[in-house]
Amino acid sequence: MTPNPFRNLPAVHEILDSSILGDLKARHDHELIAAAVRQALDELRSRISNGEPLNGEVSAESLAGLVEKRLEAQLRSKLRTVINATGIVLHTNLGRAPIAEGAAKAAYEAARGYLNLEMDLETGKRSSRQDAIREWVCRLTGAESATAVNNNAAATVIALRALCAGKEVVVSRGQLIEIGGSFRIPEIMAVSGAILREVGTTNITRLGDYEKAIGPNTAALMRIHPSNYRVSGFTKSVSLTDLVTLARKHNLKVIDDIGSGAVIDFKRFGFAGEPMARASIADGADLTLFSGDKLLGGPQAGILAGRVECIQRIEKDPLMRAMRLDKMTLAALEATLRLYLNEVRALQEVPGLRMLSVPLSELRMRAESLAREIANIAGVRNVIAREDVAYVGGGSLPDQKMPTWVVEIEAKSIGDAELALRLRVGDPAIVGRVQDGKIVFDLRTIFPHQSADVIEGVRKAFAS
Ligand SMILES: *Cc1c(COP(=O)(O)O)cnc(C)c1O
Repeated sequence: MTPNPFRNLPAVHEILDSSILGDLKARHDHELIAAAVRQALDELRSRISNGEPLNGEVSAESLAGLVEKRLEAQLRSKLRTVINATGIVLHTNLGRAPIAEGAAKAAYEAARGYLNLEMDLETGKRSSRQDAIREWVCRLTGAESATAVNNNAAATVIALRALCAGKEVVVSRGQLIEIGGSFRIPEIMAVSGAILREVGTTNITRLGDYEKAIGPNTAALMRIHPSNYRVSGFTKSVSLTDLVTLARKHNLKVIDDIGSGAVIDFKRFGFAGEPMARASIADGADLTLFSGDKLLGGPQAGILAGRVECIQRIEKDPLMRAMRLDKMTLAALEATLRLYLNEVRALQEVPGLRMLSVPLSELRMRAESLAREIANIAGVRNVIAREDVAYVGGGSLPDQKMPTWVVEIEAKSIGDAELALRLRVGDPAIVGRVQDGKIVFDLRTIFPHQSADVIEGVRKAFAS
């Protein structure tokens, strides 16, 4: 009689009793692990039925090992810390701005306890959660009042809705942009209930174009910073001061969406033409809009700064409830804004600003040291440290390049795509640039404290 191969399979309880599953059992429900064990056994049975050879022994221990590996992989957190080796400081797909340590701590404390989110501690009475950021934004921008919502897209929608619903808003055709992630000005305008009145052409819009478009149903003139593209060559656009003068004459509002929202001057990093919130307010914008997690370096938020009357109408809008910030974000945003009260401190503590201001000599030293370590890893054909020129902006600062230092890695027996994949799915996860068959790590966006992790990630990628 031929032996029955199904008989040799261990029982579910034998596999579950294996000490290999001890760690998993401490962390997860019995049912979840048992289901994975039954699934592994089912697969074996169907392989036996198909007459496939079962290479290796099918002991309880080996099956427990298989189940453990599978479950560990399946139950890994979907959101993971990533080492950003792309050199793009504001990388939308990698969470945009890393926030300052103090801001992260403020969010952590807000999350795990209670705080005076909507209570005035002096009077014990109810207050507005927006009070936490209003004064700081006013100090930094010179605005009369301010408020904040979930992101700049939300800020645009609520501003247009509260101030311009059913009325016309005049915008230059050169500024009818798509930012990405389906943020398109004409569609945002439609959602808000305001009526878009396009003027000028893609490259040229003159003050007269705005003036001709103004009618009895016009509510505002709007300027939008074309964040991630540039029209160059034969171009003309109207300055904010000219728009403001025209708007005053006709009793209209000026809304200025400056996008990235620098509160310090980015010329110091060699970036020309990045609009500053303070300049927008000083030039007379009734409302200036900007993101919290671009150049400000705070949590995701949309900040609205401007006239008291505009901010009051926005805060009374029923949509405010749907767009308001949660306690963690508010705490992190307030902490970020307060850092800017001392510019030197902001430059040291806001990670994005620190990355932009790190001297080339320091990047070089770190690149050379990292290259030396990586050269010792088996499987590496060649590794060099070299100077490079990189775009640092992602969705903002599209044409602003900066010199940097990179480490370039070439593998012996695997291609660039395979190496990039192993680095991405590894622990720690590393995302670099793929360039001419090589993987390029830009030192600008790798935190100095991550050096050992980078080496570990590369070692594992070559070992797997
Ligand atoms: C980025 C950007 C937005 C969208 O801001 P989010 O905070 O990403 O919603 C809107 N307008 C301009 C000009 C931008 O640059």
